[in-house]
Amino acid sequence: MKYIDEFRDPELARRLADAISAEADPAREYRLMEFCGGHTHAIFRYGVQDLMPNNLTFVHGPGCPVCVLPIARIDQAIALVETHAVTLCSYGDLMRVPASDRRSLLKAKAKGADIRMIYSTQDALAIARKAPGRQVVFFAIGFETTTPPTAVAIKQARAEGLNNFSVFCNHVLTPAALRAILDAAEPDNPSIDGILGPSHVSTLIGCAPYRFVPRDYGIPVVIAGFEPLDVMQSVLMLVRQINADRRQVENQYTRAVTETGNHKAQALVNEVFAVRDSFEWRGLGFLPDSALRIANPFADLDAELRFPADAGESREIKGCECPAILRGSKTPTDCKLFGTLCTPDNPMGACMVSSEGSCAAYWSYGRFRQPSILPGKVA
Ligand code: SF4
Repeated sequence: MKYIDEFRDPELARRLADAISAEADPAREYRLMEFCGGHTHAIFRYGVQDLMPNNLTFVHGPGCPVCVLPIARIDQAIALVETHAVTLCSYGDLMRVPASDRRSLLKAKAKGADIRMIYSTQDALAIARKAPGRQVVFFAIGFETTTPPTAVAIKQARAEGLNNFSVFCNHVLTPAALRAILDAAEPDNPSIDGILGPSHVSTLIGCAPYRFVPRDYGIPVVIAGFEPLDVMQSVLMLVRQINADRRQVENQYTRAVTETGNHKAQALVNEVFAVRDSFEWRGLGFLPDSALRIANPFADLDAELRFPADAGESREIKGCECPAILRGSKTPTDCKLFGTLCTPDNPMGACMVSSEGSCAAYWSYGRFRQPSILPGKVA
């Protein structure tokens, strides 16, 4: 398949692996954080870790939009739909994420709440058009990548006069999370030597927003695509930067990412959203300027204002290590519940539910590996 097979070519992978092994200095350690869950899954699915030298390990970052959503926001969504008898539209990944007291959207639906699984913002708009007498709320989550479609839906609803449509906004911003991880004190600071930067997010925001990482923290960044050869080439670029003591933002994913990103999408997002003063991230706590709310001119489409709901106090799942995994300070196999009480059929935390979660990646592709070759366990 064009644009896929070229990036999974075994011969090229072998050559890249040889180049990485030849250039990695055996006298030093290379700890590379892949920011995105998409990278984590590529690394596990294609066995990239096994092709790396023993002194190069991957640290898993927080780049999974479902995983970083704090339990309080899911509790709030459940309270919203139960208090106001609205129709709540959610992407499928969110449906099974455990909330406080082992509740979830799926369980709330089973108890009678009108919660629909959708594939796009357009599905939510279509539901609102078909039922003008029913209030429809779209549960919006995601990094910068998924923000423009939500902005389009809000503008469409306004243009069509769809007064029964609103958005529960949980869109978050990548650079703030990166800064929080790099600012974290020991033992949460995972001492990172290089960062595989987000690819899809960067198609929107470009390379420029990551310049603070080499400037303020002395850590190189390579914006990396999600195919296995993208990841391996990016690793080679990071190894070369580290060896040469260079600290720059480089772009491996040039087929989609530019220096300043997609200006049209940025203008749309800036029109419809405003930056929140503070927002909670699972594992990272409340971070300033790290998320979006609906801007004042569109405030009538903000479900948080239209349908206030008290969700009470939220509680993390006992024993779940998702917060530490999202900070990069633990791996899924450090969790006592991994593969015992917590599996994809019976998830105890978001990292096992989400298709981009680290625990799901370990379970799907790495569960039966020897501990000696698991990331973070290299002898
Ligand atoms: S294995 Fe399950 S309980 Fe443990 S950290 Fe992952 S999601 Fe949480």
